[in-house]
Amino acid sequence: MSPTIHPNRSIYDLDRHEWAELLQGEPQYRIEQIWTGLYRQFSTPAELTNLPKKLRETLTEKLPPPLLVSQEQTTDDRKTIKWLFELPDGQQVETVLMRYRTRDTVCVSSQVGCAMGCGFCATGQAGFFRQLTSGEIIEQVARASKRLKLLGGPERVSNVVFMGMGEPMANYDAVTEAITRLNSESNIGARSFTVSTVGIVPGILKLADFPLQVNLAISLHAANNELRSELVPINKTYPIEALMDAVERYLDSTSRRVSFEWAMMESVNDSDADAEQLSELASSVDAHVNLIPLNPTPGWPTRGSSMQRVREFQEVLAENGVNATIRDTRGSDISAACGQLANRTGQVGKGRRNVVVPSVSSHLPS
Ligand code: SAH
Ligand code: SF4
Repeated sequence: MSPTIHPNRSIYDLDRHEWAELLQGEPQYRIEQIWTGLYRQFSTPAELTNLPKKLRETLTEKLPPPLLVSQEQTTDDRKTIKWLFELPDGQQVETVLMRYRTRDTVCVSSQVGCAMGCGFCATGQAGFFRQLTSGEIIEQVARASKRLKLLGGPERVSNVVFMGMGEPMANYDAVTEAITRLNSESNIGARSFTVSTVGIVPGILKLADFPLQVNLAISLHAANNELRSELVPINKTYPIEALMDAVERYLDSTSRRVSFEWAMMESVNDSDADAEQLSELASSVDAHVNLIPLNPTPGWPTRGSSMQRVREFQEVLAENGVNATIRDTRGSDISAACGQLANRTGQVGKGRRNVVVPSVSSHLPS
């Protein structure tokens, strides 16, 4: 076997051709055994007992190590599990599995950190560290699926949302490659993926032509440029008008309804007037709105709106014919607020292994 695999990647980065190279001298069917193990059973080669022991050992030596569990937390009701995974280079990302009555959703990270600098977001506060590879994204889904099965659940997660750390549109190729492979090899339906973006127009336009019919969520948070540029700095590059044009192009090409995410911040974007402005934008592109009270983070003093205000806001939207869902605040007893896991472990800013910026997880699509 040739030891050509880059150490700083996931086993899920290898394609069939690379596996064939790695397995030179082995019977041809080994490739299929390993491929099925990875994508259907979500097992590493070391766990595949249908492989000879010697081969398992050699492969384990040559392949990148699996994601290391740096921390794992489960909610009291055991319906939400949050992992802090360590990558081979010591970077860390967060992944969350959420079990609902009718579906099991995994929220994955697409980057280590994020360069978009949204002040209210813990990931944005800490900055950008590196891109994840498609394999590193797939491996998060694989690990969540494997756990689900161990818990007596279905064979795999039913939904994948890109709402963890990072801006998926700023790592477009890896994200779409991960979706494509999970769709074709693990049989996760295209419509079960949701890509959430802060509003990167070129990414939205590209996704409009992506052959798989995935869902698109736009993190809007403000319906006028002045406030939005304050909350979401990339709005200065892609202002609301350009964003709405891109959404329209996306609709023309996919006929898929988009959703607007709105983190409700007390006295910032939660007034009736804000709801009126949002109604106009949402109606213009027939968007569904998801409301979630802001999770407070240490770097942003604003509080989340009260549930009563969230409901009143929802009513104004409803009066204007706009459907809005109030997200459940999943996992609040395991620091679902963005970045709190990192802060609790005291790992932020202590060297290269300590660039944890979890940003998930109570703000997920229904
Ligand atoms: N970068 C992408 C996806 C990751 S963030 C995006 O911004 O859409 C996933 C979602 O979490 C986004 O809607 C984001 O606005 C929201 N979010 C970030 N920090 C939050 C916080 N402190 N409270 C509530 N939602 C937050
Ligand atoms: Fe990045 Fe999304 Fe956080 Fe903004 S909200 S900093 S785009 S992860």
